[in-house]
Amino acid sequence: MFAKVIIDQDAKAIDKVFEYIIPDNLAVVPGMRVYVGFGSRTVQGFVIEVSEKCDFDESKLKKIISIIDEQPAIKKEMLEVMKFMVKKFHLKQASILRLFIPAEMREGKVKELFEKIYSLSNKEINIVKNAKQQLAIVDFLKEHGEGSSVYLNGTFGNGAVRALLEKGVLIETQKEKFRKPLSEIKDDKKVNLNKLQESAIEKIAGNRTYLLHGVTGSGKTEVYMNLISRELKNNKTAILLVPEISLTPQILANFKARFGEEVAILHSGLSAGERFDEWRRLYSGEAKIAVGARSAIFAPLENLGIIIIDEEHEQSYISESNPRFNTHEVAKFRANFNNCPLVLGSATPSVDSYEKAKLGQFELVELPTRANGKEMPQIQIVDMINEIRSGNSGIFSNQLLADLSNIINNKKQAMLFINRRGYSSFMRCRDCGYVAKCSGCDVSLVYHQEDNRLKCHYCGKQFKVLDRCPSCGSEHIKHGAVGTEQVVKKLNEIFPDVKVLRMDNDTTSKKNAHQRILEEFRNTKPCILVGTQMIAKGHDFEDVLLVGIIDADQSLYQSDYRSTERTFQLITQVAGRAGRGETQGKVVLQTYAPRHYVYKFVANYDYKGFFKKEENIRQTAVFPPFSRIVRILFADFDEEYVRQLVKMCYNEIVKLKEEFKDEFLYLDVMKSPIKRMQNKFRYQILMRLKLSKADEIESKAFEIVDKLSKNSVFFEINPSNMS
Ligand code: ADP
Ligand code: ZN
Ligand code: ZN
Repeated sequence: MFAKVIIDQDAKAIDKVFEYIIPDNLAVVPGMRVYVGFGSRTVQGFVIEVSEKCDFDESKLKKIISIIDEQPAIKKEMLEVMKFMVKKFHLKQASILRLFIPAEMREGKVKELFEKIYSLSNKEINIVKNAKQQLAIVDFLKEHGEGSSVYLNGTFGNGAVRALLEKGVLIETQKEKFRKPLSEIKDDKKVNLNKLQESAIEKIAGNRTYLLHGVTGSGKTEVYMNLISRELKNNKTAILLVPEISLTPQILANFKARFGEEVAILHSGLSAGERFDEWRRLYSGEAKIAVGARSAIFAPLENLGIIIIDEEHEQSYISESNPRFNTHEVAKFRANFNNCPLVLGSATPSVDSYEKAKLGQFELVELPTRANGKEMPQIQIVDMINEIRSGNSGIFSNQLLADLSNIINNKKQAMLFINRRGYSSFMRCRDCGYVAKCSGCDVSLVYHQEDNRLKCHYCGKQFKVLDRCPSCGSEHIKHGAVGTEQVVKKLNEIFPDVKVLRMDNDTTSKKNAHQRILEEFRNTKPCILVGTQMIAKGHDFEDVLLVGIIDADQSLYQSDYRSTERTFQLITQVAGRAGRGETQGKVVLQTYAPRHYVYKFVANYDYKGFFKKEENIRQTAVFPPFSRIVRILFADFDEEYVRQLVKMCYNEIVKLKEEFKDEFLYLDVMKSPIKRMQNKFRYQILMRLKLSKADEIESKAFEIVDKLSKNSVFFEINPSNMS
């Protein structure tokens, strides 16, 4: 028998299938990890296929040395997922396979599941002097107490290990101790589904993609839980994806309360061992529901009955570091493979998804009201330019200060939101609200500190930093934004007796810090919580009656065709934190661009109106979803090499453009906005394609680049981060 093996190494040159002979004494099946000889070294590999015949000259094949796990770490379905991802995202096979197993398993940092542990027995040790490897094993075990079969076989050779086993010097054990991530144990809150929820659940029954559009507080989580229960009753399994940032203790506790041991949780806050154990519980079928961030889409579950992506519009579902992939597409593949529904849930669906629903590719399911029947909070727009004109040049408008005083007097709570994503990236006039934009692309320019210039991330054009507003002549034109720290300091000055808490990357780096801040907030009244995106999602505090958005425009002027969409989404989410209990809440939205269309739609909770407007703009400008942007990113330590390479590729792609004249909306080559990263020089080819032949052109471009480059090159589709 023969095995096709993918070597677990990064070099592009070995990212292909190699054949090995399966020795008679090894039970090798697809998906197993094995040790094989490669050149003069022993390396790890993944078996992706086993066959009777080989395609290569048999006499030149080597034998598989040993197997790493007793069972295939990668299940059949995931081998199909790998093939799909190679084609769809132009990725290396090994880099995809690594996504499917916990990193700890590859690095051997934690004791592995399918693995034997050896220690010394009490038997007298009787080894001849020249059996050096056997003696070395005994020394090792005397010092360390025990060793894994992988390690001992790999280090000292199978022969030596086997000999000691036969002599009875070694004893074999299997360790089976699960580390369970701690979570707050709550009582399951039983609610009676309302009519809308019931009908949503009924509709989500086929094998299509369903776009669940439900306003904040409409009870989507309850719908998810009921959908999952239904599948468990059919002996199926389920995956629920949530953005890392909204994996709050609250949602985890709710799931634990409802599903107990049947749910496994995968997120970055777990220790390596915990994550590994949760993965094993899914692998073995003990746990049937995987709840986690993006990478939980690779959960080793079989027989999926449903896949749910909550907050489907979140950018974090697109992996922007290697390997680069789009979670929605992987989810769709797995849903098709299992013939089960895929549910995309959001209060603010992406323009992309909503367009698909409009075209009938997705089925739209709506929850237009809050589950408890309460009104949405009122959103008041405050013009900050007016504030400056009337002599208030501080961070807080008079309206926000008045509302805060009110909250404090009534011993209630407020959240103040600071959008730091757009940190100091754009230039804006403090007097008239003018923002520097690219003359050719109508996107905001990005300030680059290292060369003190403004640049367009779409066409690469550069502009001088402004010292005077071209619109009104004011010198109050600057970049930069307020930070959380500054806001807390100001609040302490204005309200010295009131507790102010801060939640951002700096205050939550320690384990459980997140939870502790929220707990303190829950128990303190009055209290003001100041935070970044972290406070925007998932929280359900009934005494939060006021949400203040310090500078709503921060995300509006990112150099990204999706910046308006993102602003709408973010503000709707943040606003959704207010008034979740009995009393209606209020939102104060501070902006320097009060007449921007996004705010009108936000204030009226008019998603459909917003979508129409945005769709129209994208259609006119031919931006996604009406076109496809492809960025091909080249990076190498050798600048001359990468410059030559990118030039060669570009010249070939220009020919492609001649062949497909009408399909290219844009094509150019340039240095990347961040010219050097981790000592690699970065160049990029940017193209914008009509949709009609985008697939074909994209794969032809990939072939060109793949042939010319010695390293792998990264293809990004509609990237939001173009740095
Ligand atoms: P969403 O995820 O849509 O923003 P949630 O799932 O967080 O909304 O639900 C908001 C609140 O409404 C939660 O406190 C939830 O327990 C409650 N809820 C959900 N469904 C119902 C229902 N049918 N009746 C009463 N309360 C409900
Ligand atoms: Zn101005
Ligand atoms: Zn431009």
